[in-house]
Amino acid sequence: MSMANLSYQSTRGGECGLTASQAILNGLAEDGGLYMPSFIPKLEISMDKLAEMSYQETAYEVMRLFLTDYTEEELKHCINSAYDSKFDTEEIAPLREADGAYYLELFHGSTIAFKDMALSILPYLMTTAAKKNHVKNEIVILTATSGDTGKAAMAGFADVPGTRILVFYPKGGVSRVQELQMVTQKGDNTAVIAIQGNFDDAQTGVKKIFGNSEFGKRLAEKGYQLSSANSINIGRLVPQVVYYVYAYAKLVQKGTIKNGEEINITVPTGNFGNILAAYLAKQMGLPVKTLICASNENKVLYDFFQTGTYDKRREFILTSSPSMDILISSNLERLIYVSAGCDAEVNRGLMEELGKTGAYSITEAMRTKMADFVGGYATESENGAEIKRLFDATGYMIDTHTGVASTVYRKYVAETGDLTPTVIASTASPYKFSHSVMEAVYGDQGDKDEFTIIDDLCKVTGVAVPQAVEEIRNAEIRHKRVCDAETMESTVAEILGL
Ligand SMILES: *Cc1c(COP(=O)(O)O)cnc(C)c1O
Repeated sequence: MSMANLSYQSTRGGECGLTASQAILNGLAEDGGLYMPSFIPKLEISMDKLAEMSYQETAYEVMRLFLTDYTEEELKHCINSAYDSKFDTEEIAPLREADGAYYLELFHGSTIAFKDMALSILPYLMTTAAKKNHVKNEIVILTATSGDTGKAAMAGFADVPGTRILVFYPKGGVSRVQELQMVTQKGDNTAVIAIQGNFDDAQTGVKKIFGNSEFGKRLAEKGYQLSSANSINIGRLVPQVVYYVYAYAKLVQKGTIKNGEEINITVPTGNFGNILAAYLAKQMGLPVKTLICASNENKVLYDFFQTGTYDKRREFILTSSPSMDILISSNLERLIYVSAGCDAEVNRGLMEELGKTGAYSITEAMRTKMADFVGGYATESENGAEIKRLFDATGYMIDTHTGVASTVYRKYVAETGDLTPTVIASTASPYKFSHSVMEAVYGDQGDKDEFTIIDDLCKVTGVAVPQAVEEIRNAEIRHKRVCDAETMESTVAEILGL
């Protein structure tokens, strides 16, 4: 198959033959499915060459294989506009060794969580796609967030001509810093709405609005069309493949591993987007052995990999890693589809069952195709203990999400004795979860306010308080809207003046 033949199709069979730019513009297929490339391209360039490349150069070598209808000039413009001085290090995604594992720091962008890795480029990919497809409508980005996507998406789309962005977050379900980052967001085209519900309610509500063709018509009459900044958008996944390739190449360059030697990758997982990107990297030919999927106490994915049954019928637990408080992991649908041999019928049946009953089971044959994945989970107390252990042993402070991954990785090694060099996706700066990490290391923080704790964190780690946190210290609160899960659609209508 030649590269030019790569196209995008829905995991539920309703659409096929789309270009990358069309898939990015749509976000979600009309049949409710997610877009997948018709095949996974292989890395064409040698590891020796990759080892010498900058992040931006690596990004081009990876992304061009998926985004085949973008010209070289367009793609390089998107990449160079995204990965610039918004990041506080030229490496963009540095690797940091601590206690024998390699923490891939994905939080050096403008909102200090890994969502910046993809959301700093998505607006460029999207506006380029709009131009390429002669879109005249204003693009309305509807986004459900478990805490980090919302801010990162707004940072990317604020005041981008031809776009509006509306973000729904679960009231009481995000950290103080996450909430402040969102409600102080500037930009005339931004709106932030707290919903009385959890992340799953927000995500389901957004998917419902996408699926409502009547509403789509009302939007079109006013010159609007919807797209998504969630990881259901293929334009989020593709940029996330880059940093796994980059991390591997850097390990080769440093002589930590030999070219061709396998690594394991551990990812703190919620919506299954980040780990799916690691899986795509493996499918592209990156030497990866095991993908360790780390969950917090909302361990629906752990149970799935243990049993082959996905069952969301359980209590939703609010944890100190709120960006992983999710029971419906949307991107798992892409893995289900692939492991069913890209059979859209099978996948659609399972997704319908999930919608109707809240659960589904896959066949043994499909489970065999997922053998690359191992699930694990961390309880709240295990997570706190790991953050403290690592800090006491090495002086390296990790956030609560990375803590989940680190815990699960250490448990995996203890159980299996597998000493394969391991990259752990480090998904947020500890500053975003200052209260939780300081509590983990030093015990109860009493009634100290968030910014006192932030300054304490700075004292004990010696790591400067990031600009993203300084920015919200005294910022004006601009967004105060609250709605119910049931009134999300009418809220969108009201904001857009339909
Ligand atoms: C979003 C997020 C995750 C989960 O990533 P998924 O791609 O949804 O699995 C983990 N950690 C942090 C800090 C996040 O923001």
